[in-house]
Amino acid sequence: MPLDDLPLPFLRVVAVLFGLAWGSFATVAIARIPEGQSVVVPGSRCDACGAPIPAWKNVPVLAWILLRGRASCCGAPIPVRVPVVEALGGAMAYLAFTRATEGGVTPAHLALAALTFAAALTAVVLTFIDLDYLYLPDGGVLTLAAIGVLSLPLRAVPWQEAAIGAVAGYAVVYVPFIWLYERLRGFPGMGLGDAKLLAAIGLWFGWIGALFALVLAAVQGTIVALCTFVAAGRIAEPEAVVREREELRAMAAAGDEEAKEALRLDPLADEPEEGLRHARIAFGPFLCVAFLEWLFAEEWILAWLMPR
Ligand SMILES: [Zn+2]
Repeated sequence: MPLDDLPLPFLRVVAVLFGLAWGSFATVAIARIPEGQSVVVPGSRCDACGAPIPAWKNVPVLAWILLRGRASCCGAPIPVRVPVVEALGGAMAYLAFTRATEGGVTPAHLALAALTFAAALTAVVLTFIDLDYLYLPDGGVLTLAAIGVLSLPLRAVPWQEAAIGAVAGYAVVYVPFIWLYERLRGFPGMGLGDAKLLAAIGLWFGWIGALFALVLAAVQGTIVALCTFVAAGRIAEPEAVVREREELRAMAAAGDEEAKEALRLDPLADEPEEGLRHARIAFGPFLCVAFLEWLFAEEWILAWLMPR
């Protein structure tokens, strides 16, 4: 089938519609993966009352606008995040398609577009899960790494470069921020999830890209943390983290040995001390944003940082 013959604007619209539909799937993944639920069954349900959502009320972005942000079954508010994530799905598909097909619309370019989109959407899902739960699920990080490896030949990246990037990405987080930090301050400054995520980013972009991603994430994370602290006076823990801790404590108080053990091992078992220095800030979202920036705008970032 000669896809080249189809007008490019038409193909872009198809890509965006495809992205919106997957964006809708991403909202389900963000809500269900951390709770250990299946992302496939049951079908879409209202978060508030559990009523199944008919397909037409599940149309990405549009349904939220038409329903004015309220569930039609029980009137519960639907968070703005839902249409935002759906729209992000559309935007990622547009960017992935446009970027991957710069050299033409061939099967290889389309395969690269699909893989780029899958990686970008995975980064979006990881961002919101880490924001909510302060943890990066291994499955998501592994997905990102696997897509990176699969797309190596399409991106003309030698596997040696990817392997060095993965090791460098892991080490540059693990050695200073986990190993050394723990020896100096008694607790790790970052999670193992961050090290694994930067290893996946190194697989994608090699060690130079991994280092840039770390620097971009650190700079942007610091700016956001300072702005939040100035605006709100404090950086609050995510609700789910507080809720999970209370549940574990109640179970431990009732004599549950497993809960006691979980509390002993959990780095989030105690409330953080007051102040910016002790604030618990998820770093994964900033790494994910840096990944997306490097994925879609590598040349611009390099040209901006190193003008000729
Ligand atoms: Zn409902």
